[in-house]
Amino acid sequence: MSTYLPEPFRIKMVEPLKMTTREERLQYIKEAKYNLFGLKSDGVYIDMLTDSGTNAMSDAQWSRMMLADESYAGARSYHRLIEVCSDIFAYDYFQPVHQGRAAEKIVYPLLLKKGQVSISNMHFDTTRGHVGLAGARPVDCVVAEARDTENFYPFKGNMDTVRLEALIEEYGVAQVGVIVMTITNNSAGGQPVSMANLKEVYAIAQKHKIPLVIDAARFAENAFFIKEREEGYGDKSIKEIVREMFSYGDAFTMSAKKDAIINMGGLIGIKNSAEFYEQVKGLTVPYEGFVSYGGLSGRDLEAMAQGLLEGIDEDFLAYYLGQSRYLGELLQKAGVPFQYPTGGHAIFLDAARILPHIPYYEFPGQSLAVALYTEGGVRGCDIGSYMLDPDPETGEQPQSEMEFTRLCIPRRVYTKSHLEYVAKVIVEVYKKSEEFGGYRIVKAPKVLRHFTAELEPVK
Ligand SMILES: *Cc1c(COP(=O)(O)O)cnc(C)c1O
Repeated sequence: MSTYLPEPFRIKMVEPLKMTTREERLQYIKEAKYNLFGLKSDGVYIDMLTDSGTNAMSDAQWSRMMLADESYAGARSYHRLIEVCSDIFAYDYFQPVHQGRAAEKIVYPLLLKKGQVSISNMHFDTTRGHVGLAGARPVDCVVAEARDTENFYPFKGNMDTVRLEALIEEYGVAQVGVIVMTITNNSAGGQPVSMANLKEVYAIAQKHKIPLVIDAARFAENAFFIKEREEGYGDKSIKEIVREMFSYGDAFTMSAKKDAIINMGGLIGIKNSAEFYEQVKGLTVPYEGFVSYGGLSGRDLEAMAQGLLEGIDEDFLAYYLGQSRYLGELLQKAGVPFQYPTGGHAIFLDAARILPHIPYYEFPGQSLAVALYTEGGVRGCDIGSYMLDPDPETGEQPQSEMEFTRLCIPRRVYTKSHLEYVAKVIVEVYKKSEEFGGYRIVKAPKVLRHFTAELEPVK
């Protein structure tokens, strides 16, 4: 039986959507060089490219924005944000920045030296990029269960702690600049990390005196999964769970465009190192602006403070995580392979199994994303080999452990019938999957190529 929890809100403002024809979409995607990021959004019906900054704000957030203080220094809105953050995360220092990667740009060069490695349950693509820009190498160390897309494991996002110890031994403690815990584990399919795993990884980090940074983009969803799935947490509040989660880290970087339900913003949190906070401030001023606004206007700071509170609301989380689960149930009925169980913010279609005739170097995840767009106007993106930049030394295309097409669910934006439409398009594409071929890259930048690369179909 499919379950859909009714929305814990009603709609007060609407944005019209326009449907396009298949012929129009074939033309649009060709003009976009077969890169979904190259499309004009007017040519998209259901936009599931990302849940980042595409969320609908509440009436309370919009009202708060009107009350915002736009002072350059020491704004009331800044102090309100810091108050809310201290209450939720129980850290000593916070630095707002304009988005998640701005936090990464500041934090990673402070922690990583040239030639070092960063070990993570999985680096998100921008994190991978900033580790690389700091001259270090990102190493992923997710549990093997993450690669089994068919079977239920409650915490597929976990770090493989046996391998983590082995990697630290292999590289030598001095070579490991940082350990990064991405919660939820975006690249593994929005899969949660258990409290036990966070605790164990932090113990390992502390034993070796390696700093542990939490990539906190979807911290609230992760907390909800812990509450649902981990023994001993069923009766705890989301805030209690969040506080314990963050107690197992030294600092965090956060894209507030996800669980803080805003359109732009980011955050750095530091547990108790005044010295590290000084270094962070030192880089914030030249990169992002004065510390009390960090690249954001006062109204953004207000929206973030309010959004953080709404993002940890249990009714909201139950409804929102229920949306991806519902979409998953519709696909399961039709036998479409996807990362099961569904994660938080998105459904990750298993493109390697949907398009088994396309090799990794012809990007099955990208091919499926293009097909979903041309067939139904649904925009998703590749989370697979296409997203992995070639090895800087050999120029070789790495093979991703998983070939996904990700369809994200923006928060409070689409309804049950939108999701049913999306499921119908996916099932139609799945039924004629042998019609779709691979792609090759004709032009690409060196770092984070998937945003701007140009592709063509392989004949
Ligand atoms: C989105 C995201 C980032 C980067 O944040 P931006 O706000 O897009 O710069 C980093 N890590 C994870 C896990 C993310 O989902």
